[in-house]
Amino acid sequence: MAESKRDYYEVLGVPKNADDAAIKKAYRVLAKKYHPDANPGDAEAEKKFKEASEAYSVLSDSEKRRQYDQFGHAAFDGGAGGGGFGGFGGFGGFDGADMGDIFGDIFGDLFGTRSRSSSRYNGPMRGANVRTSIRITFEEAIFGCEKEIEINYKEECGTCHGTGAKAGTSPETCPRCKGKGKIVEVQQSPFGLGMVQNVSTCPECGGTGKVIREKCPDCRGTGYITKRKRLKVTIPAGIDDGQSIRMAGSGEPGTGGGERGDLLVEAVVSKHPVFVRKDTSIYSTVPISFAVAALGGPIRIKTVDGEVEYEVKAGTQTDTRVRLKGKGVPSLRNRAMRGDHYVTLVIQVPERMNEEQREALRRFDDLMNGKTPSKEESVGHKKKGFFKKDSGNS
Ligand SMILES: [Zn+2]
Ligand SMILES: [Zn+2]
Repeated sequence: MAESKRDYYEVLGVPKNADDAAIKKAYRVLAKKYHPDANPGDAEAEKKFKEASEAYSVLSDSEKRRQYDQFGHAAFDGGAGGGGFGGFGGFGGFDGADMGDIFGDIFGDLFGTRSRSSSRYNGPMRGANVRTSIRITFEEAIFGCEKEIEINYKEECGTCHGTGAKAGTSPETCPRCKGKGKIVEVQQSPFGLGMVQNVSTCPECGGTGKVIREKCPDCRGTGYITKRKRLKVTIPAGIDDGQSIRMAGSGEPGTGGGERGDLLVEAVVSKHPVFVRKDTSIYSTVPISFAVAALGGPIRIKTVDGEVEYEVKAGTQTDTRVRLKGKGVPSLRNRAMRGDHYVTLVIQVPERMNEEQREALRRFDDLMNGKTPSKEESVGHKKKGFFKKDSGNS
């Protein structure tokens, strides 16, 4: 709204002392000329149409006109005016001025019996959102990354400016429905109950009210062309599988001057061989030897930040969970805040041992049971002692 505005009298092309009838007449001419339905896809016409509508909404209202004459555009700055003319779909936004009257008037003779409340009014419509997905690694999800994707990007055809009509021609009012987009058939009810009205979408124009006689060769009459477009996607640290990144304005184009929809890129995060994630926590399992569990000592633990050293306490039992604070997933909202990494220490029972190792274990077992070991005796002691409980192979 900050751009310099043309004088309202200049916009309508009327003198400063023009009377209401002259203002209305001038606006009717401009509105017909620049109405978006008469100029589909023409941004310049749309701008002119909005400009004229705004000028008319002020000059047709005696109070507003008085303020405008006194203060110029400043009369409406910062007040109710700001942003009120964002789209010509919002006719109600021209507060105060009785637009219903003039629109019924002007568009009545432009488009037949159509009224302002007609559902066929093609105001600006926002384009549809488009969805796509991108596969990223576990680590990329945690630390964020930049990726490139290639999408089908629908753009207004530059040759016909979105009208779909061949150069030098323009879409014509549909002769079948006379531009209404609907066909009303009145039939005798089969049960003799009188007349039945049957309303259907016009098959000739598909409900648009316009037909294209000669199609634009570049877009085959669709008004759009689809290109492959490469886009850079910034994936934020902490994104989780199934979450989407919204790229505003990269969806389908709008119609009637509406803005583009958004592109939603869903992150598909690959599984990690070691780590499992839940929200901002990471879980993993680390095997430790019986000796380290019993005696305590340093081990190396893999984290997403690399290996860290951890001091196992003497007498650690299997399935003991330890917490590595701040080694989890960053919060999506604040990447400085990180979850934790929980490690489950699992004692590994050796599956193969040589004779010397077995002998040492027998000796150890006997010592734990307060016996003096003797080779012969200890052979049969397999089932005794601390390995007795759950020797399940892991
Ligand atoms: Zn075209
Ligand atoms: Zn039609």
